[in-house]
Amino acid sequence: IIEVQHLKKSFGENVILKDISETVKAGQVICVIGPSGAGKSTFLRCLNVLEAPTSGKVLFEGNDLTGIKEDELNHLRQKMGMVFQSFNLFPNLTVLDNLQLAPLKVRKLAADQAKEQAEKLLAQVGLADKANDYPASLSGGQQQRVAIARALAMDPAVMLFDEPTSALDPEMVGEVLKVMRDLANSGMTMVVVTHEMGFAKEVADQIWFMADGYIQEKGKPADFFANPQTERAQDFLSKML
Ligand code: ATP
Ligand code: MG
Repeated sequence: IIEVQHLKKSFGENVILKDISETVKAGQVICVIGPSGAGKSTFLRCLNVLEAPTSGKVLFEGNDLTGIKEDELNHLRQKMGMVFQSFNLFPNLTVLDNLQLAPLKVRKLAADQAKEQAEKLLAQVGLADKANDYPASLSGGQQQRVAIARALAMDPAVMLFDEPTSALDPEMVGEVLKVMRDLANSGMTMVVVTHEMGFAKEVADQIWFMADGYIQEKGKPADFFANPQTERAQDFLSKML
């Protein structure tokens, strides 16, 4: 569903992504892990071309996202949901309106359809009773679950997550991971940058270990965590545990 070919990304002199070629297949859950500064966020942002690659290609459902017109890119991007560390909800809209806004404006759903879908998604993330509340009145974990529901409201083909739990108080991490685990079990294609090794071990189909601008190692979580092949990965894991 996503194919990355010889992706490179530099900021000025600084080469962040050096040569990455990978494929994400429909239904897969990929967890991207690695040390701080490895380029994980940059990589994720290149997948939907929020960050324009310096060279190389990113294909989404067969369409090359690099070098296409802005409106075409925006259209394809709608099918790629993204959730960040910070929740970025619209503070002046209720939870329900946060979920309905893009479906009404961009997908042109009818009002009753958008409302029905928003309510369904809120129930899915366990927040049916918060529909009429404003984001500021919710906990961080609840806001992040709303952010996930809002991304799902665009009916994405793939969901990209960049450390969705790392800004949360520890007691709220579990509720967000549970929503993500349910989503993975429902068959959603997901690319998740995370420091939550338990989640990665349990939910990922593949671990991609990133360091120094390359995907140094990839494999099934059982193999990767039990038996990392590269010294870089061994070193990283020894510090995580
Ligand atoms: P972390 O685990 O801390 O989130 P990361 O693996 O996500 O790290 P990136 O955020 O992708 O790493 O950053 C990789 C490098 O790219 C860093 O050295 C960072 O300073 C640099 N970088 C990222 N974005 C920009 C930018 N817009 N302009 C210049 N340099 C940038
Ligand atoms: Mg990052």
